[in-house]
Amino acid sequence: MKAMVLKKISSVKEKPLELLDLPDPAPGPGQVRVKVSACGVCHTELDEIEGRLPPSKFPMILGHEIVGRVESPGLGVTKFKQGDRVGIAWINWACGQCSFCLKGEENLCDNAKWTGKDVDGGYAQYTVVSEDFAYPIPERFTDLQAAPLLCAGAIGYRALKLSGMDDDQVLGLYGFGASAHIVIQIAKYKYPNSKVFVFTRPNQKEHQNLAQNLGADWIGATEDIPPEKLNCAIDFTPVGVPVREALKNLEKGGRVVINAIRKTTPIPELDYAKYLWHEKEIKSVANITRRDAQEFLPLAAEIPIVPEVREFRLEEANEALLLLKQGSIRGAGVLDISA
Ligand SMILES: [Zn+2]
Ligand SMILES: [Zn+2]
Repeated sequence: MKAMVLKKISSVKEKPLELLDLPDPAPGPGQVRVKVSACGVCHTELDEIEGRLPPSKFPMILGHEIVGRVESPGLGVTKFKQGDRVGIAWINWACGQCSFCLKGEENLCDNAKWTGKDVDGGYAQYTVVSEDFAYPIPERFTDLQAAPLLCAGAIGYRALKLSGMDDDQVLGLYGFGASAHIVIQIAKYKYPNSKVFVFTRPNQKEHQNLAQNLGADWIGATEDIPPEKLNCAIDFTPVGVPVREALKNLEKGGRVVINAIRKTTPIPELDYAKYLWHEKEIKSVANITRRDAQEFLPLAAEIPIVPEVREFRLEEANEALLLLKQGSIRGAGVLDISA
């Protein structure tokens, strides 16, 4: 099979992924081999490549927003048959036995494995996964549309749940990329009387236009003061400053959720009286559970979410990652691996 492979920690500018011919992976007991047709491009790949979240082995095939079809079910597989369309997300395996798994918090599992970090992911023509960590994809989405639902969408859904948002409230979104452009659609559907304020880098006109098309009630730059206080906010950016800015604009008792696996710059010092007092909260979101994906995918079809997708070929993964780093992909970048 063809795969784009990471051999060592690198700069994204150096085109770090190499196109290689590798043997097709064989499914073990309980696993399915999936012929990949689309794989989303996520910020987490930048953290892996640049060493903030290094893969647990090299070479590694990155990519954890995978859509494809079951090609060969392994021994004992009962949930899927040949030809079924499935999705694979960041959570690749959890132990089911640690204190977190037993509480339903497998996203915090001590022994979990993550797709494209601990096991080979979707920047390839084939991948294998346990049938317990694959999900049926609702029919209304094409393969390319469905890919960003598996991380950008599912973790955005989790972040929105953790924000404690309710109807009639104001939600602030810092950064408006793959995940935020899906979250605004969930928020507008679930909380029709709410307002959504969007903050981007000042030069991100395309992102701002997309926010406007998706019904944002106010759009500004990261350090702008919005017309009303925020009851809750989600920070999707890879940097530290927006966390302080969100806290500054937060209503008393509000919560800021940080939807990032790593930050490339520190969160600035926070003056307690100005940014935290009055029962303001900061909470991070870490990974997803299978339940997040199982709840979100049918909801995405019901809403229906309209993902904005920019297509790249598998061989163009390096270019896609560089554009992602520069913040210049409108919506979600997806590799088309169907050819
Ligand atoms: Zn991701
Ligand atoms: Zn566990």
